[in-house]
Amino acid sequence: MSKIAKALQENIHFMFISGNSTPDFRTINDFRGKRLKGHIHQLFAEVVKLLVEMGYVSLAVEYIDGTKIESASNRYTFVWRRSVEKYKAKLEGKIKGVLSNINKSIHADNQDKNQEVLPEKIDTQVLKEQLSQLNKKLKTPNKQQGKALVKLQEEHLLKLAKYELDLARMGNGNAYSQTDVSATFMRLKDDHMKNGQLKPAYNAHISTENQFITHASIHQTPGDTTTLSIHLDGFQQAYNQQSDTVVADAGYGSEENYELLEQQQIAAYVKYNYFHLEQKQKISNNLFLAQNLFYNQAADFYVCPMGQPMEKTGSSKRVSSSGYESQITHYQAKRSEGYPLRGMCHQAKDNRVLSINHRLNQLKKQAKQLLMSQKGLELCSKRPVEVEAVFGQLKSNNHFKQFTMKGLEKVKLEFLWMAIGHNLRKMGTKSRQLAQQARVQAEKTSFCLFPLKMATLSSKCCVLDKKEKLK
Ligand code: SF4
Repeated sequence: MSKIAKALQENIHFMFISGNSTPDFRTINDFRGKRLKGHIHQLFAEVVKLLVEMGYVSLAVEYIDGTKIESASNRYTFVWRRSVEKYKAKLEGKIKGVLSNINKSIHADNQDKNQEVLPEKIDTQVLKEQLSQLNKKLKTPNKQQGKALVKLQEEHLLKLAKYELDLARMGNGNAYSQTDVSATFMRLKDDHMKNGQLKPAYNAHISTENQFITHASIHQTPGDTTTLSIHLDGFQQAYNQQSDTVVADAGYGSEENYELLEQQQIAAYVKYNYFHLEQKQKISNNLFLAQNLFYNQAADFYVCPMGQPMEKTGSSKRVSSSGYESQITHYQAKRSEGYPLRGMCHQAKDNRVLSINHRLNQLKKQAKQLLMSQKGLELCSKRPVEVEAVFGQLKSNNHFKQFTMKGLEKVKLEFLWMAIGHNLRKMGTKSRQLAQQARVQAEKTSFCLFPLKMATLSSKCCVLDKKEKLK
């Protein structure tokens, strides 16, 4: 912010844009982080709508991809679920021990043979209840009891509350950063230490068209599979419409995403795992692979390469992390021992089992048809120069590899600022290129007309000469 404040006083371009206004860096920071907090999405959408009006984008196609951007927090501020759970279990054991000792001493003092039953699960609420009961019972505790009560109250209760808070902050994740609670630990390809360590980061997703960013969203999960529905919802909210076509890489090729795109009537030019591998002869000619086995749809059974029918044995459900349910059908060969091709077919002790997701196979088939079509090949060949180029521009050319703000809302704000900046810069470049092209075209046209004009002029001169001669 201080750089912008300085530039507003020294840089002629900044002075021109600000109309010679020189706000303090705190004012600029407040404007960036507080004033625009609730309006940044609208502002971004307005810039994109302007691009639509100018004919630079149509919102008909979205090239979607994500990249991980490091959080502003230090990587050494992480708290891991495994260690929290381990220390919490130890502490619970200690608390139970202390509670049992106090209860024993109370019963010994009262000469009561009935032992108090301790609660099985210890959390802060239970411990508080236990402490209040003990305080009622022990009006004048002895030295040992007093010490134990103080320890429970001032040490164990606080630690237990901290561990509970840590686990609540982690949610479903495995770790969190103490200085940026919203960040998730992700493996970054291009972290600034260049050693691919786990770092607190955010998963930033963009949609692009003609290298303009048409939509952006920030996610806290490292994988791309579960982010598509949130990203598309954001697009719908911003423009009140969905695009006709989505082009994305294999990270998005799941049953859930294909279904979602089909429901929204969006053409899915989305690859899936093994899409490229399938094209190789080594894979397509391997008769033992599940996808190459003959399937009798009417009678619902597969036939193995030895001609043995593999009949349906049952079905099960697979639930994704987002709660999507997939139906898996299982088939098994009846007898495999003694068959000469067994080593090439499978390694399992029992007869070969196939677990097939028929719906996913059908959706993959549709996606393959689209991807292998002329339009599909064109769109896919454009993908690296679309979304990948924009990430390159943001991260390498503009050095935006780490957020400067902390917390999910502020990170969203900062990323949208970067996206708006990218779009405006690109708009400027495109306008200059178009103006240049128009100038060259005009010059070409005037150059072509030059001989014609010269000829017209000379013929006029000849006519004048003749007239003068006649006089
Ligand atoms: S091992 Fe069993 S399933 Fe595999 S090809 Fe031979 S008979 Fe068929």
